[in-house]
Amino acid sequence: MASGIQLMEKVLFKIAKQWIAGNTADDALTSAKNAYQLGRHAIINKLGEYNTSKKQILSTIDEYQKIINSFRKWNIRGAISVKPTQIGLSISQKEFCRNFEKIVQEARDAHVFVWLDMESADHTDETIEIYNAFFSKYERLGIALQANLKRTEDDLNDLLGIGAKIRLVKGAYREKTSIAFKSKEDVDKNYVKLMNILFKKCNEFAIASHDGKIIRKAQNLSKKYPKKFEFQMLKGIREELKSDLIKKKFVVSDYIPYGVNWLPYSIRRIKERKRNILLLGSSLIQSQRV
Ligand SMILES: Cc1cc2nc3c(=O)[nH]c(=O)nc-3n(C[C@H](O)[C@H](O)[C@H](O)COP(=O)(O)OP(=O)(O)OC[C@H]3O[C@@H](n4cnc5c(N)ncnc54)[C@H](O)[C@@H]3O)c2cc1C
Repeated sequence: MASGIQLMEKVLFKIAKQWIAGNTADDALTSAKNAYQLGRHAIINKLGEYNTSKKQILSTIDEYQKIINSFRKWNIRGAISVKPTQIGLSISQKEFCRNFEKIVQEARDAHVFVWLDMESADHTDETIEIYNAFFSKYERLGIALQANLKRTEDDLNDLLGIGAKIRLVKGAYREKTSIAFKSKEDVDKNYVKLMNILFKKCNEFAIASHDGKIIRKAQNLSKKYPKKFEFQMLKGIREELKSDLIKKKFVVSDYIPYGVNWLPYSIRRIKERKRNILLLGSSLIQSQRV
């Protein structure tokens, strides 16, 4: 008989499947191809964070290089998104930079856009430092900033000074009250404030949110400030809204995670939405019945 943990994992995986392309880079490329056929761009992310095994890090770099070089062959408008701690930041900044350089070089040759995901607030300073260093060498590089952090307005203004490309998100990590807005209301308010700055001052950016109110506000702002921007949403979330935005001629990118390390990512998605927690509860009850 399956143990409680095994049962929980099985149920979680059933729910997580909607958000994850599969285990392999080819699964992610297939999902990106499907997104492309629906008129979307794709951003591929290999799941995994806090890697300290050199073998694991090297295989992650290999896979990102393979993906970068497959976009043209597969006829996909694609980018990749990298979490700093998955390719060496948990060892040292030097290790990260050596590894990221390999990815960026490949991306430069293939003209592929690279995003740096933003992880928990312990890594914000280093990630921005890294971005500054690499952006001076490779322009098709973007960085995620989190509206739940109180420091972000200052970070955004600094980054706009160098012409940075920004993905604005609400923030997926639990942070201390001293550094973060905690209520949805406060995070949303800050998101809207930062989004206004983006439309006024940034030349290329992404509104990464599933929040209907925010997306409507962005559509309105785009009438006043016609800028190069795109909506980014996670695979498997708000599919109808994505189609609607594409019909209205907005650029929409699907963020497509893949890989065996699906658990932390899926838990973050489940926590984000009450309905997902209810779904988890009812799936657990059902699985006990059969
Ligand atoms: C492309 C992309 C990249 C990201 N990169 C990062 C990153 O680098 N660092 C980081 O910290 N975070 C990142 N995130 C996650 C982000 O910070 C949020 O945790 C996540 O997007 C949820 O916030 P929300 O803006 O959708 O708003 P929420 O306030 O969570 O949700 C608002 C509304 O959106 C809808 N919605 C939200 N989730 C769902 C769902 N699962 N199913 C259906 N409807 C839903 C509901 O209507 C909900 O009321 C990224 C998100 C996206 C979309």
